[in-house]
Amino acid sequence: MKIVMLGAPGAGKGTQAKMIAARYEIPHISTGDIFRANIKEGTELGKKAKAFMDQGLLVPDELTLELIMDRFAKDDCANGYVLDGFPRTIAQAEALTASLRKNGDALDYAIDVDVPDEDIVKRMGGRRACLACGGTFHILFNPPKKEGVCDLCGGELSIRKDDEPETVQKRLNVYHAQTQPLIDYYTEEGILKSVDGTQEVGKVFEDIVEILNG
Ligand code: ADP
Ligand code: ADP
Ligand code: ZN
Repeated sequence: MKIVMLGAPGAGKGTQAKMIAARYEIPHISTGDIFRANIKEGTELGKKAKAFMDQGLLVPDELTLELIMDRFAKDDCANGYVLDGFPRTIAQAEALTASLRKNGDALDYAIDVDVPDEDIVKRMGGRRACLACGGTFHILFNPPKKEGVCDLCGGELSIRKDDEPETVQKRLNVYHAQTQPLIDYYTEEGILKSVDGTQEVGKVFEDIVEILNG
């Protein structure tokens, strides 16, 4: 099964993608996590990506595509994957469609996690992320068992630099301008499904499972 998660920054794509990956035994691929891991390791790619990410801008398509195509080549992608944060532009979506089509393949679902901007701004202030494993928590809505510590790996939780309120607003603008058009793109491809992302985490997941099992 090949799934794309769509939605604004902070809509809950990562939270749901991890649950889907566990339930359906497919890898969760987050371009944001891969970029952050590269920044942490101080790679060339990380250095290039950081300048864009810190400003709330998208990393250029060329760099992003190179990275994701490398990731698709790994063995664990053979049975599918859930993509979180990719594609984010029409050019990326077209490149993905073309690369799948070359092998007579296609995506199964594009799931839009729908959350209004007002809720996003509230959520981002409480987001805490684990740089070690990509785990994501929320101080009110999804608190870790021990404050500041990742439930999944014991790593330290931190506030992402791009989760400051001004950068969040900028990322929302970028989302509306560059990523939201993908909703129409995948509607035309006939694979778009929408879920109400304002519901609690477990209910959103139930709705997604219904789609995937349907
Ligand atoms: P969020 O979880 O808030 O949606 P991500 O972790 O997916 O954020 O992405 C963080 C940042 O990484 C983005 O603001 C952008 O700068 C960069 N990024 C991630 N994925 C992509 C992509 N597919 N294309 C361009 N930039 C990306
Ligand atoms: P995205 O990957 O779309 O940027 P995340 O999965 O990182 O979003 O979620 C953003 C923040 O909102 C995190 O702090 C997360 O714990 C929290 N969150 C995720 N889903 C929900 C939900 N359904 N209700 C309330 N908070 C949520
Ligand atoms: Zn962790």
